[in-house]
Order: sequence, then structure tokens, then C-alpha cells
Amino acid sequence: MNRLKGKTAIITGATAGIGMKTAELLAAEGVNVILTGRRKARLEEIAETIRNKYGVEVETAAFDIQDSKACESFVESLKGSVDILVNNAGLAKGTDPVFDASFDDWDTMIDTNVKGLLYLSRLISPLMKKRNAGHIINVGSTAGHESYAGGVVYSATKHAVKAITESTKKDLHGTNVRVSMVSPGLVETEFSEVRFYGDKEKAAKVYKGMKPLVAQDIAEIIVFIANRPDHVNIMDTIIYPVSQSSATMVHRDE
Ligand code: NAP
Repeated sequence: MNRLKGKTAIITGATAGIGMKTAELLAAEGVNVILTGRRKARLEEIAETIRNKYGVEVETAAFDIQDSKACESFVESLKGSVDILVNNAGLAKGTDPVFDASFDDWDTMIDTNVKGLLYLSRLISPLMKKRNAGHIINVGSTAGHESYAGGVVYSATKHAVKAITESTKKDLHGTNVRVSMVSPGLVETEFSEVRFYGDKEKAAKVYKGMKPLVAQDIAEIIVFIANRPDHVNIMDTIIYPVSQSSATMVHRDE
């Protein structure tokens, strides 16, 4: 049953990977989508494809989610109400240990994964609360459930996403606003390329000899969560590829 047709969703980080696929699958259900990310040309290209293929309304907003003022201007520019906010924009930078990592990488991860997600939640949640309707879906990670060596700050940011999801649900207790999270394991997107500063070879090694998740696997779950009846609030879903059992247990063919 499609309960999503005619709704409006903001998807942050819609220029690639999980966000891009989520935007497409929501549009396929008849959801009007508002796509955000920093790469303007890519946003417009994706918007055009979705518009032509699914006939829904598509808007784009190119801004850096680390910039609170830009987030405010974006929300002020919205023309109608928002039913679904998919807080997906995020990244990892580096795999250096705590005694060797760069402050810049830490700032980028914290400012994007934690503060960016908070800014949009802060700005959109009062609108949802006022309408007594809406759904915030945060993209966490298995790294928000398990910390690993080389992921000191990435893991911390995703543990923060888990905490933010739980607190947001409690802050909105007694309203009809739903708050959910998805926690994926290894998904082959641009994620590893970004993590390794554009080194494609190093990024490819992450998925070598195993079958990782693809963006579609996670996007389908996000759509499933959004499409539950109004009284059903899925809090979290942990999704691994079958060949992964923890952050470091990854079975690879020789
Ligand atoms: P991806 O392909 O690299 O996509 C990341 C998206 O985030 C891009 O659209 C990017 O857009 C956007 N973004 C990054 N920094 C931003 C900023 N400062 N302002 C606005 N947008 C920004 O990676 P992905 O795998 O789809 O990642 C999506 C989410 O899933 C992230 O939160 C990530 O932590 C999470 N996740 C990924 C995996 C995985 O293995 N891939 C596993 C667990 C969780 P622009 O570059 O255009 O700004």
C-alpha cells in the first residue's frame, strides 16, 4: 500500500549514493522531493532525470550543511510543508588513529554528520510539531553501534546520530511526528573515495572479494520505514551485507 503519494520529502546529500537512490525511490512512490548537497550541477542533473522519469515536483538547494546560516536560508526558502526529512548527508575522512589524525578531518566529520544533521532537525522539527505530522529519518551507521580502530571520530559522530535520534523521538513524545534511523554496514557508494581523499584504488579495496550493500538496499529500507502506517515508528534498522558480521569481520573470497 502506498501511503506516500503526494507527500514532500527533503533528502540531504542527494547528489550521490544512498541519498540519490532514496530520492529516486521516494519519487517513484509519487513523493515530491527537495534535493540538497553541495554540487549544484549534479543536483540539477539528478532533478531533471527524476522529474522526467516520475513526473513529481523536484526542487534543489545547493548549500553546505555545515553552515548554519545556509541551513536557515534553505528552510526559509521552502514554499510548502515538509512531510519527510531524510538526514542523510555525511562522510568519513581518514582512518588515522586518535594519536595521529587531523583536526580538519575531525571538524569536517563533526560539523557535517552531527551539527549539519542537528541544524536541519532544529529547523524542520518545529514545523512538523506545529502540524502534528511528519517523519525525520536519520542515516546513522553500524559505526554508531560499534566503535572500531581508525574510526574514532566517525564512530563518535554516528553514536551521536543514534543519541540524537533517540532524544528527538523523546522530545517529540506525545506528538504524531515520527523519528527513525537506519544503520548500514558496508555500502558501495562514493563514501570510501571521500574517506580516502579521492584515492579510487584504496577505496576499491574496501569492497574487494566481497559483495557490499548498494545504495538501493538502504534506500528501499528508508522507503519502507516512511511508508509504515502513521502509528508505526521504526526506531532503527541495522543492515549488513551477508559477508559482514561486524566493523572488522568481513569475509572475502581469495
Ligand atoms: P556518498 O556517496 O559519498 O554521499 C554522501 C552525500 O553527502 C553526498 O550527496 C554529498 O553531497 C553529501 N554531503 C557530504 N558533505 C556535505 C556537506 N558538507 N553539505 C552538504 N552535503 C554534503 O556516501 P553515502 O554512502 O551515500 O553516505 C550517505 C550517508 O550514509 C552518510 O551519512 C554516511 O555516513 C552513511 N553511511 C554510509 C555507509 C557506507 O558504507 N557507504 C555506511 C553507513 C552509513 P556533496 O558532496 O554534493 O555535498
